[in-house]
Amino acid sequence: MGWHASSAPDVGQGGPPDFISPNFESFVVHHQVVIVGGGEAGLIVSRRLLKACPGLDVGIIEPSEQYNCQRFWLMVGSGVLPARGSRRETSTLIPHEAHWIRDTVQSFDPAGDTLTTVGGAAVSYDFLVVAPGIQLNWDRVQGLREAVGRDGICSAYAFKTLVATWDSIRDFAGGVALFTQPSGQTKSPTGPLEMCYLAEEHFRRSGSRDHSQVIFTSGETSMFQVPQYSQILDRLAKEKGVAVHLGLDLIEVQPASHEAVFCNLASGEEVVIRYDLLHVAPPMGPCDFVAHSVLADEGGWVDVDPYTLRHSRFPNVFGLGDASSLPCTKTAAAIRQQAPILVTNLLAALERRPLTGKYDGGSNYNIVTGYESILRAELDYNGMIVEVPASELLRLSPQNV
Ligand SMILES: Cc1cc2nc3c(=O)[nH]c(=O)nc-3n(C[C@H](O)[C@H](O)[C@H](O)COP(=O)(O)OP(=O)(O)OC[C@H]3O[C@@H](n4cnc5c(N)ncnc54)[C@H](O)[C@@H]3O)c2cc1C
Repeated sequence: MGWHASSAPDVGQGGPPDFISPNFESFVVHHQVVIVGGGEAGLIVSRRLLKACPGLDVGIIEPSEQYNCQRFWLMVGSGVLPARGSRRETSTLIPHEAHWIRDTVQSFDPAGDTLTTVGGAAVSYDFLVVAPGIQLNWDRVQGLREAVGRDGICSAYAFKTLVATWDSIRDFAGGVALFTQPSGQTKSPTGPLEMCYLAEEHFRRSGSRDHSQVIFTSGETSMFQVPQYSQILDRLAKEKGVAVHLGLDLIEVQPASHEAVFCNLASGEEVVIRYDLLHVAPPMGPCDFVAHSVLADEGGWVDVDPYTLRHSRFPNVFGLGDASSLPCTKTAAAIRQQAPILVTNLLAALERRPLTGKYDGGSNYNIVTGYESILRAELDYNGMIVEVPASELLRLSPQNV
């Protein structure tokens, strides 16, 4: 069975947009540890596992030949980096001791310690790590998939529309610049606001700010889930003259009339905002193949213990990153702290020792609030926050890329 290019969406769903699965004959393989997803989480875990335990038989199932460093996408969308700077060949990042299975997982059978792939393989394992990221649901906004990347509609949430994003911001000559964030779980939950702040600063530098209105909408009821944080981001919006409308979810784009249609989540009423530039972060959710499996929790996420990262029902399955049920931010920064804990606990399980690693929900990550300013957030399950000292402020500048 193959996955044909024509059925692959233009902007993808979170997996690679331009992947064509090889047409394998059905076959069976076994690895001691199988990792699903060779993105941020899968790659860190594979490297750490092999460093801690040389000779371990690790298989990584990852369809894409191009690794997307999504952390850089806001920098590309705001003209700081060229798009090519956010991509690397996957083959250069997969540890050479690991076995790369270039395929797409289709279903899980954790009771039988097996999974199947779109390419027709049955892969069995002693231990499984599930890290396929989050799914982008472009089709939940009517007209978006066809319109994004042209006519003033852009998004830093897909590689294919990064260039159009910077072009739209750079060429904005005034009018209404609208930035949207969906309700629910998203990767980089402050990304849409960061994009808004960066663009707003660029408009001031380019001279278009005086005759423009900058609007940020969010389906959430606050700017961020941690109140101290939210207050700072709210204050910054006021200082920058950004109009904020919370509780609004984008449901339709009408490129011909330059109208964005929202649902007011509290009243159910439709709200229409006319735009000249529209930056969209699409609705996101768990990957379908995870949500439809027995590995999922009620919300569709890989159901792991928040401290050990071990699956709640299948002891030889672990999960981390955006696909997981971990109640922390979905960021690479969080993954950097999850990975060592997962590796410690997986190796303990492999040797039948008690699991001693305990994840505290930690992530230290930077929220870009302008070309020369960031907030550094230090978060854990208790919602701690630390502001960055002035000496550590980022110095970025838009290049003509
Ligand atoms: C615009 C933007 C800006 C961001 N900025 C920051 C930032 O400043 N700081 C920060 O810490 N984080 C940031 N992030 C978030 C960060 O990139 C993600 O949290 C991180 O990439 C998640 O890692 P992951 O491994 O869980 O998923 P991903 O990195 O998305 O990797 C998932 C992998 O699984 C593969 N996959 C999918 N489905 C299957 C399948 N069926 N079978 C096999 N493989 C599959 C995909 O091809 C992909 O390679 C940003 C994200 C975006 C989009």
